[in-house]
Amino acid sequence: MLPRCEMLDLVVVDGRARGVIARDLVSGAVEPHFGDAVVLATGGYANAYFLSTNAKASNATAIWRAYRRGAAFANPGFVQFHPTCLPAAGPSQAKLTLMSESLRNDARVWVPSRPGDDRRADAIPEAERDYFLERRYPRYGNLVPRDLASRAVKAVCDEGRGVGPGGSGVYLDLGEAAARLGAGVLRERYGNLFDMYERATGDDPLRVAMRIAPAAHYTMGGLWVDYDLMSTIPGLFVIGEANFSDQGANRLGASALMQGLADGYFILPYTLAGYLADARLGDVAEDAAEVRAALGDVRARVETLLAVQGRRTASDFHRALGRMLWDACGIERSRAGLTKALDEIGALREAFWEDVTVSGGGHELNQELERAGRVADFLELGELMCLDALAREESCGCHFRVEHQTPDGEALRDDAHFAHVAAWVPGASGRSPERLVEPLHFETLAPNERSYR
Ligand SMILES: Cc1cc2nc3c(=O)[nH]c(=O)nc-3n(C[C@H](O)[C@H](O)[C@H](O)COP(=O)(O)OP(=O)(O)OC[C@H]3O[C@@H](n4cnc5c(N)ncnc54)[C@H](O)[C@@H]3O)c2cc1C
Repeated sequence: MLPRCEMLDLVVVDGRARGVIARDLVSGAVEPHFGDAVVLATGGYANAYFLSTNAKASNATAIWRAYRRGAAFANPGFVQFHPTCLPAAGPSQAKLTLMSESLRNDARVWVPSRPGDDRRADAIPEAERDYFLERRYPRYGNLVPRDLASRAVKAVCDEGRGVGPGGSGVYLDLGEAAARLGAGVLRERYGNLFDMYERATGDDPLRVAMRIAPAAHYTMGGLWVDYDLMSTIPGLFVIGEANFSDQGANRLGASALMQGLADGYFILPYTLAGYLADARLGDVAEDAAEVRAALGDVRARVETLLAVQGRRTASDFHRALGRMLWDACGIERSRAGLTKALDEIGALREAFWEDVTVSGGGHELNQELERAGRVADFLELGELMCLDALAREESCGCHFRVEHQTPDGEALRDDAHFAHVAAWVPGASGRSPERLVEPLHFETLAPNERSYR
């Protein structure tokens, strides 16, 4: 157990994962740690968008460093946007708060019918409200899946009908439910959420309609794994949100807890043992060339980050990256937007290595340094997310390409060409990442159009 340590690289010896390089976050010491196999359980990368529902410390460094050592990264562009977050209050906000969407069981989602209508919610009469989810999806109404709700929210905000600062939110209104069920019943069902909302916004949801907005929440892409949860690097296992497997099912019908249990409790103990039973593993020498190279890379990177001494903080670069990803690789994507973002992210990454500033030193607790390393990785991963979204010329699940939609604005899949997992590996000697394809076979049920109308 090594608390307050951050994995910064993977040690691959003779083609097998044999350890990690970790930095002690308190002393700054960078050291190798060896094992017969490596298991990554390091979570998702929604924080690439800067503003997300994830904990501030969530980051992609562990899986990104493994990718840089050759592990395939699957479906990086698949991201779930959660519709019921608290809207950002202003440009300096650093974190978003998630409201449980269980509220959608009783609350009704609406915006003013007229763009630019800035009257208070309770001053807008029924006839001048647009319950857009109920209108668009009469069968499911306010309970449509997250991707559809988020997209519908974006659509009404793009029309200038969003509410609150910046017009980025919509109302989640319990007025009708309160009249029908009484405040006591609602408080019993959602009291803790009401308290949380009131602490964050100052408004009592039983008096003032809540405001919500979509936010990056969960990443379905991640390191490619086989049915044994092993990546393309023998001995490197990846579980939970960090891998790409089962995430679509997880997001549509199961849960992350279920997947975490399945991966970590029911599958891995057996498949990992199976790997060890067959592997002939000697000891890893601390001065093996691969170990020295990985250690050298990590130390050099830390030193470079400290040496740049530029003018912009890592957070400043991160915020800029987040805006680019949100605009181009967010709830909706387009060829033009993604192509532009690829240029912009490349330029931003160059600017980062010329102009980032990291205060403090490398041999102490230094959160600026931690942040800078993570942002450097997000800048590379963000590019791969856009490449993936650009290459997938269809709309599929949470990936919505505006060029590929049905006449009534729903996702249009292209199973003939895209019924596959796209797994990316680093290009040889600085070339663009290479896209590998793993076809999907459906035996019991054929893929169908998702219809919630
Ligand atoms: C606000 C919120 C609400 C959610 N609600 C639900 C829900 O109701 N139902 C549901 O199914 N899912 C929900 N999810 C999703 C679910 O919580 C996550 O998918 C799940 O926790 C992922 O588990 P994990 O173990 O894979 O990763 P995590 O829980 O993210 O754990 C990863 C750990 O690895 C550590 N780590 C990361 N990088 C490194 C590194 N380089 N070195 C060392 N350590 C590292 C992190 O600090 C973290 O402790 C929610 C997510 C959020 C953010």
